[in-house]
Amino acid sequence: MLNGQDTAYEESDLYRLRHTAAHVLAQVVLELYPQAKLGIGPPIESGFYYDFDLGIDEQGQPRTFKPDDLPQLEKRMRQIIAGQHPLRCQEVTVDEARQKFSDQPYKLELIEGLEQGDGDESGETAVPITLYRHDNFEDLCRGPHVAHTGQIPLDGFKLMHTAAAYWRGDEKRPMLQRIYGTAWHSKKELKQYLHLLEEAKKRDHRKLGRELDLYVIDEEIGPGLPLWLPKGNVLREELEKLAREVEDKAGYQRVSTPHIAKEALYLHSGHLPYYAGDMYPPMDDEGTRYYLKPMNCPFHHKIFASRPRSYRELPLRLAEYGMVYRYEQSGALFGLMRVRAAQQNDAHIYCSEEQFEAEFIDVMDMYRAYFDLFGIDKYVMRLSKHSKDGLGKKYADNEAMWLKTEEMVRQAMKNARVPFVEAEDEAAFYGPKIDVQIWSAIGREFSLATNQVDFAQPANFDLVFVNERGEAERPLCIHRAPLGSHERFIGFLIEHYAGNFPVWLAPVQAVVIPITDKNLGYARRVTAVLKARGIRIEVNEGDERMNKKIRQAQLQKIPYMLVVGDQEESAGTVSVRTRLNEIRGSISLAQFQAQISDLVENRLNYL
Ligand SMILES: [Zn+2]
Ligand SMILES: [Zn+2]
Repeated sequence: MLNGQDTAYEESDLYRLRHTAAHVLAQVVLELYPQAKLGIGPPIESGFYYDFDLGIDEQGQPRTFKPDDLPQLEKRMRQIIAGQHPLRCQEVTVDEARQKFSDQPYKLELIEGLEQGDGDESGETAVPITLYRHDNFEDLCRGPHVAHTGQIPLDGFKLMHTAAAYWRGDEKRPMLQRIYGTAWHSKKELKQYLHLLEEAKKRDHRKLGRELDLYVIDEEIGPGLPLWLPKGNVLREELEKLAREVEDKAGYQRVSTPHIAKEALYLHSGHLPYYAGDMYPPMDDEGTRYYLKPMNCPFHHKIFASRPRSYRELPLRLAEYGMVYRYEQSGALFGLMRVRAAQQNDAHIYCSEEQFEAEFIDVMDMYRAYFDLFGIDKYVMRLSKHSKDGLGKKYADNEAMWLKTEEMVRQAMKNARVPFVEAEDEAAFYGPKIDVQIWSAIGREFSLATNQVDFAQPANFDLVFVNERGEAERPLCIHRAPLGSHERFIGFLIEHYAGNFPVWLAPVQAVVIPITDKNLGYARRVTAVLKARGIRIEVNEGDERMNKKIRQAQLQKIPYMLVVGDQEESAGTVSVRTRLNEIRGSISLAQFQAQISDLVENRLNYL
């Protein structure tokens, strides 16, 4: 939540504290580099930053901070903080502000913006212009701040790292040097935060994705187009299997549709023009344009429309884990979290208005069952609504239907006793939706699933069914993808579990480690028995010593290691160790098989 900071945060003490820390940082940078030109320095989600132009170096490149600058700046910041300098706010006219910042070109540009009344990314508001002063430093700023610098705990802040950033994020503008810092109420909070960062680094799905052989991204194939390696593909298939089982029980039927379709389909659905910015450019086939599909829905609508439908068939639930292709800016791509080709955990439910609420609640229950299974205990549901201004531009132009369907969703959520918040101007182009944010075990936030109501596309495609009274009636369509895209969800799971997948998901569930080569035959027999029961198991036939093999298996986060030597061989047992380094001792092969099968079949989340 770097940009869309919520107001509660903006009104918090932490926000003031961080904002003041940014001012102190700018002050000490100006001491060290008197020629520096100041950009902006706002508080951000877990700290603050400030941007500086340090001029040009001897090679004609933008000058950067030196590695030992940060500790030195931090030390000097402590001295200023300890001075307990009060923060004073002053209102000035545009001309006065211009005079004060006459040698600060970026500030002059901001002042000009303020004069024209644009509240901008720096958080400054229009005239009268406010300045904040402490000690000998003054900044263009709308506040708020703490009362004096001494309220920043001396051991509760830290300068983290530097990065390059274009002025106003525009690559045609100068490249500035950004210093990131973090600040907290206490040393304890700072330590907790730094610990969380360390954990996050260890759990980073891009790092673990490589180490655990799950996926690769090959530049020649293209950015944002992951290749799933055999082990990663197991995760995908297990998720599919789970979804299929859940949906079979809930009365879904599976369909398959192609990856491309004619332009006419998307004009019909409304994806063109509403969604054009997210679609790949078309392919031209002798004057007919084809698009890669960004969503599965229009295909499913065509299936619904492929023959006359009766109320007896409703709700009709069509599921497809279809690949969709969306054009994401290359700068926005991020591991598995933001990709250009993704497999949606998709389905469309066609129902009458009377059936809507029960269906919608069933979908919400399905979400919650998934969250229980994966141990996701922190999530927020948001009802994303249209905006009046966006009608006919971003949103299907039918205000009455927007208001009606938004109220239907609101009621369904209330009746299902699901807590939710509401947000304007966040809907899909065809209807309101429930967006789900989840938090991983280490507190990282992800937007995941959506559950959407669509009144627009059924009208666009003239979908109808014959109701009980023999009349043609328009169905509603529910779009739902509880696991979002399998790419993003797997990215999430990697970080959530730190690669320690529950047994049912683990790409390799057990490895057999013979103590000596003599035991290799038995090791292979054990493997064959378990494999026949559907367990993903392999033998480590390498030359390394047993302890090294155990270590390898632990690094690969394989749940079970079955060590077999002469004793085990003669008794028909396996000596069980876990990736948690527990030594469970010898049990019969049949016993182990029963245990692991129970964990897999019931998708239990322990070893
Ligand atoms: Zn400020
Ligand atoms: Zn859809």
